[in-house]
Amino acid sequence: AKKIGVLALQGAFREHRQALKSLGCEVTEVRKSSDLEDINGLVIPGGESTTMGKLLQVDKLGEKIKELAAKNLPIFGTCAGMIVLSKRIEDSNQYSLGLMDVTVQRNAFGRQVASFETNLEIPALGKDPIRAIFIRAPYIKEVAPNVGILAEYEGKIVFARQGNMIASAFHPELTEDRRVHQYFLSIVDEQLAK
Ligand code: GLN
Repeated sequence: AKKIGVLALQGAFREHRQALKSLGCEVTEVRKSSDLEDINGLVIPGGESTTMGKLLQVDKLGEKIKELAAKNLPIFGTCAGMIVLSKRIEDSNQYSLGLMDVTVQRNAFGRQVASFETNLEIPALGKDPIRAIFIRAPYIKEVAPNVGILAEYEGKIVFARQGNMIASAFHPELTEDRRVHQYFLSIVDEQLAK
């Protein structure tokens, strides 16, 4: 079985673990550098990106993740995980891995609609829209030319891919539709076949 690490410093890691297990993966919770050994992919969950960033600097865990990313480890970030993956964070100097060449805006959907659900068209995942849950979600304001846009909501980029990395502003681990996780695992499979 594929071995997928789920960053388990804080946030919604249990739901990702369940989603990946239901798809037949072996799942390791990542809390220290040695937990990253032998994984075939890494999920960075939602939660609170400032806190996650602080914890990533302990024991050089973030640096180790960057080394693995440079060797094409597939990485999937959701919500706070999207923020942690990004190179630029609007109005913030918090720590991030700086792996995806995008600018994100945190808490981007305003106070009234801070959290909401919608049917999201994601052409790469087929004709049926995905039920997408947004919780104080970020969105991507700008992408470099090497970043592909997978989905937009009201003109805002909410799902993107750069090489073996994907990032979603919404939480696919909170619904039963497993197509987003399957898409990530197809990237893992492609990388393993190389
Ligand atoms: N608003 C959070 C942040 O900026 C992200 C919210 C989430 O992951 N659900 O870190």
